[in-house]
Amino acid sequence: MRRTNLGLLLQLLRDHGARSRSTIATESGLPKATVSSLIGELVERGLVREGEADRSKGVGRPGQTVGLDGTTICALGLEIDADYIGVLALDLQGTEIHRGRVALDIRGLSAETALGTVANVIRDGLAAVEAHGVRAVGICLATPGVVDAGKGTVVFAPNIGWRDVPVRAWLRERLGPGVPEVEVDNDARLATVAEHAQLASQGVTDLLLLTGEAGVAGGVITNGKLLRGHAGLAGEIGHAALGPSDEPCPCGRKGCWETMVGLGALLRRVADADDPVRDASRDVEERMAEVMRRAQDGDARTLGALDDIALSLAHGVSVLADILNPQVIALGGYFAYFGDYFVPAVEERLGSRKMLASFPQTEVTRSRLGFSAAAFGAAQFALDAVFQDPTLIEVPAAH
Ligand SMILES: [Zn+2]
Repeated sequence: MRRTNLGLLLQLLRDHGARSRSTIATESGLPKATVSSLIGELVERGLVREGEADRSKGVGRPGQTVGLDGTTICALGLEIDADYIGVLALDLQGTEIHRGRVALDIRGLSAETALGTVANVIRDGLAAVEAHGVRAVGICLATPGVVDAGKGTVVFAPNIGWRDVPVRAWLRERLGPGVPEVEVDNDARLATVAEHAQLASQGVTDLLLLTGEAGVAGGVITNGKLLRGHAGLAGEIGHAALGPSDEPCPCGRKGCWETMVGLGALLRRVADADDPVRDASRDVEERMAEVMRRAQDGDARTLGALDDIALSLAHGVSVLADILNPQVIALGGYFAYFGDYFVPAVEERLGSRKMLASFPQTEVTRSRLGFSAAAFGAAQFALDAVFQDPTLIEVPAAH
C-alpha cells in the first residue's frame, strides 16, 4: 500500500509539476500527515527535493513546494534497427543526458555478434552517465518484429533476420552482475508511447504513428490507450499488401507495403548499390542529409523517388485513416526527415475525401522524436518502473 502511494505521489509530481504538500494532499485524497511522511521518504531516496515557496494561495504563510529531483538516476533506452544501434539516457525528469548511435548493418551479422555490439553500446552508455555522476537504474532495448516482452525474447524480426533470439538472457550473460536487467519490447510500440507522451498535454487521445525506418509499422493509440491486438501483433502494417507491388519482402511474402515505402525502398530508388548513401556503415542521418541535398538541388532521380514514395505512403495512410479515424497522424523516422515532401501528399489524399468534410479533420504532423523515438520510448519505459515502485531506488547509506 505504502509502495503504491509512493508511486502515486511521484507520478503526480511528474505529471503536474512541483506543488505544496497541502495541494498534494488535496489532489491525492491522502491525509496530510501521510503525504508528509511519504514525501519525506521520496526525499530520502533522492527522488524528490524541496523547492520554491508556493505563493499561489496569495495570503498567509507560503508553503514549501516539493518537486521531482532524480537528477542522479537515469534509464538507458536503446534501439536496434537494420542500420544502427541507438542509445539515449533520460534522468527521472525526462531530461536527456546522453545520446549516441553506432552505424551497423545488422542484417550482415549473426544475432550473437549484433548483441555483442549492443552490450558494448550499453557499457559505453553506462560509463558516459557515470562520468556525470548519474547511475542507470533501468535499461530497455527496442527491437523490430514480434517480441515476447515477458520472456525478453525476439520471436521473429524479418528485417534484421532474427528468430527466437533470447535477447535478455544473452545480454545478462555478456554484461555480467551489477548491470540492471535489460527489458525488451517492440520498437513501434515504444515509439508510439513516447510520441503520445509528447502530444498528450495538447489533448491528443487518438494517434497513429508510422515508423519510417527499414521496417514500417503503425503504432496506434486509441482513446488514450495503446492498441495491442489479440496476440500483440497490432500495427504490423508494413507487411500488409497495400499496393501494386510484387517485390519480395524479408518476411517471405511479396508486395508488402514496406517494400514500397520503407527506408530500403527509398535508398534503392535514389541511388545505385555502390553509392555512398547506400553504405550501411555510415550514419543514417548523414545519409538522409545527402539525399536531402540532392532533392534540394533538383536531382530528378531523387525527386522522382520521393514523389513515388509519397503517393504510396499517402495511399496506405488513407486506408489506415479510414479504419482508425485518428486525431493525429505522426510521420516518424525518415518520413519525418522528408516531411516537406510527404506531409502535403498525405494531407492532400486525406482532404480529397469530401464526404467527411463536415467532421473534425485529422492532423498530419512529423514526429518530433524522428529516428530517436524508439530509444526515447525505451528509456521512458525503463524509468516507468521507478514511478510504479519508488522503493526500487535504495536510500543512500549514511556518511
Ligand atoms: Zn513483408
